[in-house]
Amino acid sequence: MAGHSRVLVGGLPGVGKTTILSRAAESIRASSRSVLLVVFGSVMLDEAKKLGVSDRDRLRFLPVETQRQLQLKAAKKIYDMQADFVLIDTHFVIRTPEGFWPGLPIEVLKTLNPTHIVMIQAAVQSILSRRRNDPTRKRDEERPEDIEAELELSRQFMVIASAETGAPMKIINNEESGAELAMKEFLSTIRAE
Ligand code: ATP
Ligand code: AMP
Ligand code: MG
Repeated sequence: MAGHSRVLVGGLPGVGKTTILSRAAESIRASSRSVLLVVFGSVMLDEAKKLGVSDRDRLRFLPVETQRQLQLKAAKKIYDMQADFVLIDTHFVIRTPEGFWPGLPIEVLKTLNPTHIVMIQAAVQSILSRRRNDPTRKRDEERPEDIEAELELSRQFMVIASAETGAPMKIINNEESGAELAMKEFLSTIRAE
């Protein structure tokens, strides 16, 4: 295919982004094209370690001003990464004690310069049970109505990101035990199948 793809992937905590993207990256690699799976939160955490934060699930509790600096530094680092497919695993909205905060404010969007924007979503009850059943993380136990509200906000931020960058946006459902199917839809969306 012509050119390089920079794919922004967002969705609520625990919806299955990293699961789907790891498999997608494996599949792209197997077809001899270069791919980088960049977990935005991991790039932020590398910087945050200098501030004594070592748990990714604590990042969003830092003062938003600090998070903004980490966010922009991460975006600049990611901008320099090159591959046929750069898959950026991130969030459209972050729930902080200071309120909802955009994962992709204009400055960050402009720096990342995506070719595609994808949102992974799932039913509220699935998100709740995936969070409960994942012992590797400290995700919040939230009320279903709060998850529903965050889903709606994520969609709105996704629309803004698409309008600001001109990149097409796609919503992919990650149904129960359907990660493989979601991965295939993702590959076809970014023309990597
Ligand atoms: P975060 O934003 O917090 O990093 P995430 O979107 O990357 O979350 P994952 O870590 O990929 O989410 O998945 C959360 C949990 O849900 C994991 O235990 C994973 O195995 C499980 N999971 C992912 N997809 C599905 C699916 N289709 N059906 C059932 N469980 C799933
Ligand atoms: P994740 O592993 O995807 O859950 O990311 C861990 C944490 O990184 C998230 O809970 C956020 O605090 C932070 N994070 C990820 N993406 C962004 C972003 N685009 N802007 C700000 N913070 C982010
Ligand atoms: Mg993840």
